[in-house]
Amino acid sequence: MKAKKEIKKGKAVKAVRTDKKERILKELKSIVGEKNATTDQHILYAYSYDMSFVTPKLPDYVVIVHTVEEVQRILKFANKEKIPVVPYTSGTNIGGLCIPERGGMILDFKKMNKIIKLDPEALYAVIEPGVSHGQLAEALYKYNLRFGWPVGPPSASVASCAICHGIGHMNARYGLNSQEITSMEVVLPTGELVRVGSCAINPDAWHSCLPMPQMDGLFKGWLGSTGIVTKLGIAVHHIPPILKIFTVSCDHVDDMYSYMLNLSNYEICDDLTAVSWWLSQVPIPYPYKPKPDDAPEWFSYATTFSFTEKEKEARTEIWEKVVDEEKKKGTSIQVTHYPEEALKARTQLPSQIVGSTKNYCKMAGGGISWPGTFTPANRWAPIYKEWKKIMIGHNLSPSVRMSMYRGVHYGMLRAMTPFNKQSAKETENARQAIVECLKVDLDNGGMPYKPPVDFAMEINKRAHPGYLMLMKRLKKFLDPNDIMNPGKLGI
Ligand SMILES: Cc1cc2nc3c(=O)[nH]c(=O)nc-3n(C[C@H](O)[C@H](O)[C@H](O)COP(=O)(O)OP(=O)(O)OC[C@H]3O[C@@H](n4cnc5c(N)ncnc54)[C@H](O)[C@@H]3O)c2cc1C
Repeated sequence: MKAKKEIKKGKAVKAVRTDKKERILKELKSIVGEKNATTDQHILYAYSYDMSFVTPKLPDYVVIVHTVEEVQRILKFANKEKIPVVPYTSGTNIGGLCIPERGGMILDFKKMNKIIKLDPEALYAVIEPGVSHGQLAEALYKYNLRFGWPVGPPSASVASCAICHGIGHMNARYGLNSQEITSMEVVLPTGELVRVGSCAINPDAWHSCLPMPQMDGLFKGWLGSTGIVTKLGIAVHHIPPILKIFTVSCDHVDDMYSYMLNLSNYEICDDLTAVSWWLSQVPIPYPYKPKPDDAPEWFSYATTFSFTEKEKEARTEIWEKVVDEEKKKGTSIQVTHYPEEALKARTQLPSQIVGSTKNYCKMAGGGISWPGTFTPANRWAPIYKEWKKIMIGHNLSPSVRMSMYRGVHYGMLRAMTPFNKQSAKETENARQAIVECLKVDLDNGGMPYKPPVDFAMEINKRAHPGYLMLMKRLKKFLDPNDIMNPGKLGI
C-alpha cells in the first residue's frame, strides 16, 4: 500500500516537472524561435561534456541566440524562474567551464558572430562573442593585421578566450589577451544592458578601458558567472614583414630558464616559449614514454618580427650575444633545429595542425586537460622538477610549456596532459595528477587560469578572507539569484 502511494507521488512530481519544463521551453522558443531552443536528448548530450577530466552533466535546455535583445529577454526570464545559464561558444576551454554543474540552460552564442567594426588606423576591432579565431584572422590579414592567437582550435571564440585571460602568440610583447580588451558591452544576469570602457561614453568609441574606473574587471576572469559579453573591443596590431624564429635546446630546465631570463630582458621577442621534449612530440606520448638519452629535454622558440633587414640583424645580434653568454656560463644551451611540424603548429597561428587537437591527444582517447597557470618565472624550474615526478608517477608525460609575459617576472607554466577519456579510471588518474601539480604551483606563488572547479576549491582554500568576501559580494550584487554559470567559482 505504502509502496503504491510512493510510486503515485513519484509520478505526480515527475508530471509537475515535465509540465514546468514544457512551459519553460515554450517561453524560450517564443523568444528565440521554434528551431533555436530544445530539450532533445541527443542535442543536450552534445553539450554535456568536454575534453577535460570534469564529469559530464546534461543541461535541461540548449538555446541558440542571435541578438542582444534575445539575450536580454532570456536572462530576464531565467532570472525570474531561477534557471541556471551557462554561456557557451565552442566549449574548448579544457577545464569543464561550460559543463552545466547545476543543469539549466546552455546559451550558445555561435550565431552571434559579426565583426562589427575594424579600424585599421586606430588599430582596434569590435566583435560579437561567436567570432572565431579563424574568422577574425582572415578579416585582419586583409589589412595585414593580427591578434594574439592561442595554440588552440581556430573555430573557438576570440572573446571567450580574452575574457577568461587566455593567452596568444604575442604574449611576450602584449601580455594576455584580456590586456588587449578595449571596451565591452554586457548583459547583466538580471537582463539590463551595460557598457564599460570608452564605448560607455561615446557609442562609436571602442578604443580604451582607460582612464576610467576599470569596470571591465567585473567581467574578466569570472568564467561567465557575472554577465554575458555581447560586444567586445580589442586592440589589433600590424604584422611586420620579416619573421625570424630563433631556436635553442638544452638538457636542464635551469639552463632554459637562465636563457629565457637573459633574452627576455632585451624585449626583442613577440613570443618566448620553451617546451619539454614530451610537448615537442607529435602527438604527445600517452601513456608516459621515457625521453631518449641523446635527446635534449628542452626546446625553445623565440619569435621575432622586423620591419627591415637591419632591424632583423640587430635582433639577431642580441640573440647571438645571449646564446654566447649562456654558453660561457657553462649551461647546456645549444643552437638547434626545432622539429618542423611542431614549430609550424606553434607559430603559424591560428593553426589547423593543433586545431583538430589530434596532435595533442590522438594517442590518448580524446581526453586533454592541464594545470594551466601564471607563475613567477623564477619558480618554473623547481616546479617543473616536482611536476615531472608527479606526472611520471601517474604514467603521464610531463609535457610542459613555459612562456614569458611582457617581461620576465611572471609567465605561463602549464602541462598539456592527454589521457584516455573513455576510461573512468584513466580520467581520474589524470585528474589526480593535474590537481597535485596545481597544488605545488599554488604553494609556489602561481595562479591557475581558466580554472576547473577542482582548482577553484584549491585557490579559495588559500585565499585571503577579504578577497573571498569581496568576490561573494560582487557576485551577489551582479547575480542575486546565482543563475550565471553557478558553482564554477567554488564559493
Ligand atoms: C589543444 C588546445 C590548445 C589550447 N591552447 C590555448 C592557448 O594557447 N591559450 C589559451 O588561452 N587557450 C587555449 N586553449 C583553450 C581554448 O581553446 C581557448 O581559450 C578558446 O578560445 C576558448 O573558446 P571557446 O569558444 O571554446 O570558449 P568556451 O569554452 O565555450 O567558453 C569559455 C568560457 O567563457 C564563458 N563564455 C563564453 N561566452 C561568453 C560570453 N559571451 N560572455 C561571458 N562568458 C562567456 C563560458 O561560460 C566559459 O566559462 C586550448 C584548447 C585546446 C583544446
